[in-house]
Amino acid sequence: MDRDLCVRCNAADGDPFFEQTDRLYNTTQRQFQMVRCRQCGMARLSPPPPASALSAYYPDRYWFDARGDQLSRIAESYRVLVLRDHIAFIEGAYRHAKATGPVLDTGCGGGLLPGLLRKRGIPAFGLDSSLTACALAWSGNGVPAVNGDLNKAPFHPRSFALITMFHVLEHLHHPAAYLGAARDLLRDDGRIVVQVPNRASWQALLFGKNWNGFDVPRHLQNFRAEDIQALLEHSGFTIMRRKFFSLRDNPAGFATSLAPRLDPVARRVRGLPSNSLHLAAYAVLAGLGLPFALLEAAFARGSSVMLEARKR
Ligand SMILES: [Zn+2]
Repeated sequence: MDRDLCVRCNAADGDPFFEQTDRLYNTTQRQFQMVRCRQCGMARLSPPPPASALSAYYPDRYWFDARGDQLSRIAESYRVLVLRDHIAFIEGAYRHAKATGPVLDTGCGGGLLPGLLRKRGIPAFGLDSSLTACALAWSGNGVPAVNGDLNKAPFHPRSFALITMFHVLEHLHHPAAYLGAARDLLRDDGRIVVQVPNRASWQALLFGKNWNGFDVPRHLQNFRAEDIQALLEHSGFTIMRRKFFSLRDNPAGFATSLAPRLDPVARRVRGLPSNSLHLAAYAVLAGLGLPFALLEAAFARGSSVMLEARKR
């Protein structure tokens, strides 16, 4: 049985926030309760779905697979383009780390990101809980990927100069334990790069419980920038940098919040056919979201937050 406690401050009491179901992938009709911690205000699903139930909420082809039709290949070119933000942030963190060594991308999916890092001369490895995703990372992107959990990963302590976690921590029952495992695997002065949705964003205010960043029931934790910073500090890291704009995530999140059924991954998962008209409509919505995403980020209220932190 997983404890139903706030992962930021360990308090048990929470005030009801809203109820929501799986609006994006429709894997269940069940309603889930979101609460806000009475002590620190961080939001979480309460009670969290047990670990044994979670796999039912993750569709088989949840991660990205580029080996498909022409639309998939267009989508991949787009994803490479919009990952430039992430790559630049990672390269900065890698330079800042006085430690040398490889990079580990946790939750690597099909390995697009670590594959791009390898092409730029950074030795990057992947880790994912999906065996199929790992196989694709090897075969599709030439990324050595390990199937498993970071807490039990087959690496020596202090192996890595940098560990990345893009949209990982919000999916976990015990993100602090995960950060602790990452810290053990980092060399002295190693860096961690974390990205999570930001519940204190203007998009979250605008869309309420229909905000894409809540992604019920897959997101068990719903951080504000201050929540993830506190968790990193408690876990033995010092915050070095924050970035509130993500070209990949924020405009697309705006579009998906407005029209989840137009989201290309959601269409594939739901078995709905996609044509260029669907893609164009989605792109128009994301285009409308772009100025909003730039504005909220300028006020440090972007719908995702990327942080670089140093191992203390
Ligand atoms: Zn709390």
